Amino acid sequence: MVHCAPRGGYALRIRVLRLKKGEIMAEPILPDVQMNLVRASDPVIAGVVSNELCMRGKSASFVKHLVLDVGNTALAGAFRAGQSFGVIAPGVDERGKPHKVRLYSVACPTWGEDGAAQHVSTTPKRLIEEFVPQKPADDPDDHQLFRGVCSNYLCDVRAGDEVRLTGPNGKRFLLPADVHAHDYVFLATGTGIAPFRGMLLELLEGRDGPCSSRIDLVMGSPYTTDLLYDDLLQRLAAEHDNFHYHTAISREPRRGKPTGLYVDGLLNEQFDYFGPLLDNERTIIYLCGLMGVRVSLFRMLAAQGLSDAYLQVNASLLAKRPGDWSSSEIRKGIKPSGRCMLEVY
Ligand code: FAD
Repeated sequence: MVHCAPRGGYALRIRVLRLKKGEIMAEPILPDVQMNLVRASDPVIAGVVSNELCMRGKSASFVKHLVLDVGNTALAGAFRAGQSFGVIAPGVDERGKPHKVRLYSVACPTWGEDGAAQHVSTTPKRLIEEFVPQKPADDPDDHQLFRGVCSNYLCDVRAGDEVRLTGPNGKRFLLPADVHAHDYVFLATGTGIAPFRGMLLELLEGRDGPCSSRIDLVMGSPYTTDLLYDDLLQRLAAEHDNFHYHTAISREPRRGKPTGLYVDGLLNEQFDYFGPLLDNERTIIYLCGLMGVRVSLFRMLAAQGLSDAYLQVNASLLAKRPGDWSSSEIRKGIKPSGRCMLEVY
């Protein structure tokens, strides 16, 4: 690890990986960001600007694009694309305590939805499940719907409502300081698309003109109708030759095939296309979304011989076939390298 003194507003932090003899690969340099300016004990009040569905079609899930006005608060101008912020839902939990902070990814570029970093957006999805008894006193035959506290609150708010926010959070899931020095593979499942919406707008519609780096986005979704921000992503792909938008639809049969594809399945199936890109030392992988995708991505990278670039794998796992790695072994025995950015929840 090489530490350099901060210069030009960025803390320069380069980790140099030794690969084969004489060959070195520099990990991306990340910008310095502001963190935890606003704490849960003293949240700021944001006004709801708009709250609209952002799915491609009719679906069993409900996901919104929520825009919040943080002007005149400590959060104005404080976010970077890739970070998240905290939301405190009104009311109290079943123990009579104020609800805990839930985090939501920033879905806009660093200059916000309004170009002045006063309006920040996110992508809340309603969490709806069947009620599962939690305490001995709960009725085991109660099958009413369980509605997640904060996600449903955020999906319900209307223009003019007030929302309590904290943050910003996150200092690693960021675009590099020099965006031109790298190519990008963005992997999203569901609301994991939120940070990539912001990053893509930042890379492709920035004030200094579009970044010409190669950018591939793979969006994973159960059904085509669940795709999020699909109009925007199709438009960006049509307007920018360096941006490639792929979809992995898991529950719809494909032409000539009985099953759909998950994100890692698409990378594997189209490895002639993705292999050279992943093998290129300019490439950074970003993965955001469901926790389980991390496991399948790590297995896929190792099986394809790409673990040196993206993962630090402990010796006991190296002795096993990647396909046999369990999720707990992966959790304990693998650390992503600086070229593999993860935000899973
Ligand atoms: P909660 O009320 O907190 O429920 C949480 C869990 O409890 C549920 O999974 C539910 O299964 C279970 N549960 C509790 N009691 C019961 C019961 N009686 N019966 C059945 N189940 C029960 N989410 C987004 O939608 N968009 C984002 O952009 C986003 N970004 C994130 C970024 C980060 C960095 C992180 C860490 C998380 C992010 N999340 C995002 C997830 C978000 O923080 C919340 O976890 C999510 O919205 C659910 O919160 P909730 O309050 O609605 O659910």
